[in-house]
Amino acid sequence: MTAPGRPLRTAEVIAVGSELLGTTRLDTNSLFLADRLASLGIVLRAKAVVGDSREDLSALFSQALGRSDLVITTGGLGPTDDDLTRDVVAAALSLPLEEDAAIVARIAERFARRGLHMPEVNRRQAMVPAGAVVLNNPNGTAPGLFIDHGDRVVVLLPGPPRELQPMMDGLVVGALAERASAERLFRTTLAVTGRSESHVEEAIQPIYSAWRDAKPSIDTTILAVPGQIELHLTLRSSDETHARQTLANARDALMTALGDDVFSSDGRAMEEVVGDLLRARDLTVAVAESCTGGLLTSRLTDVPGSSAYVLAGVAAYSNTAKTELVGVPASLLEAHGAVSEPVAEALARGIMARTGADVGVGVTGIAGPGGATPGKPVGTVAIAVARGAESAITRTFRFPGGRAQVKYSATQAALDMLRRLLSQ
Ligand code: AMP
Ligand code: MG
Repeated sequence: MTAPGRPLRTAEVIAVGSELLGTTRLDTNSLFLADRLASLGIVLRAKAVVGDSREDLSALFSQALGRSDLVITTGGLGPTDDDLTRDVVAAALSLPLEEDAAIVARIAERFARRGLHMPEVNRRQAMVPAGAVVLNNPNGTAPGLFIDHGDRVVVLLPGPPRELQPMMDGLVVGALAERASAERLFRTTLAVTGRSESHVEEAIQPIYSAWRDAKPSIDTTILAVPGQIELHLTLRSSDETHARQTLANARDALMTALGDDVFSSDGRAMEEVVGDLLRARDLTVAVAESCTGGLLTSRLTDVPGSSAYVLAGVAAYSNTAKTELVGVPASLLEAHGAVSEPVAEALARGIMARTGADVGVGVTGIAGPGGATPGKPVGTVAIAVARGAESAITRTFRFPGGRAQVKYSATQAALDMLRRLLSQ
């Protein structure tokens, strides 16, 4: 693998495998590869999924190689007849295939370790296009291949992600970095709650529009994902120190404009931010949740080490459970209905009292599609967070979307209320 002159600027990924065209398997390799290419400053201009067809793969490969500096294929390197990638690429590049004795020995040894003879079909995996560099695969039988082809590069990687990922990181990224331009892509992400996408846009548009014409320019993308608005800032530069400083300044300007609606500027998820706040303040939390059915407790406990601050989570779904497990007075349920701010607060205070937690959270709502009552449409959720005897915040939300979205939005809102209470 010797680095030639012209840098690699553009790339395409071709995922090979008929199973990826069906209804059960998704091409995830290209997502992983897109991330690595972005870090290398190589522009991924197209990606494709193709079945195990010689003709279709050949056409796609030739098209990709005709217009991009780098083509990466994944899959189709197995030992069986439908694994065609090696043959098709060698033919397209007019490279003869030669058996590599070292690969045969390695594969035979893998079989021997399991007390088996190597089947003759595995010899296919030892066929190497002339001049290609073999990428050893410690996690499977199919080796990858790295081919310098004039000012182009072709990389063949195995399909299984657990084989492809270490091979890409260990053997390919470094070789591509030598051939990429000195420019790299730098990124920073801010996560925002409590405002709609258009309100975020309104607050920051005057700020980021000035960055488009700066040198180097910062690209700003606003993305609405469930429960939060994300701001992605990217910048292309060959000067890492300057790039990181420029992005940090840009991030600070946005944080000033958006205030405490920004909950994360370092990639941490909401549950991690809340966990860090609880830990820093040496506080414990307990949850009594109805319409979210345990999802809030699940998210809180997704964080490694959360046993330091999560005491308990109760899915108090029925009215009886709210009364018997959490101590919500039946009269309160009768007077206000289960989906009400007084019941949310009673859930929060009840679970706090029963577990001895410093902070209690109560969630009660209508996830839908049924269950709406006059004045309480589907998506109505009352949430309370209480700390000690004195302070409690209670709010009622109307979340859009189906059952899953309402449940998720409710957990995000509850975590956000917790975050704001703990930040006071
Ligand atoms: P192959 O190398 O074509 O024999 O692929 C073996 C297995 O790897 C397939 O059955 C899939 O489970 C997995 N695989 C192949 N291609 C992909 C892909 N693009 N994304 C995720 N998994 C894949
Ligand atoms: Mg396959």
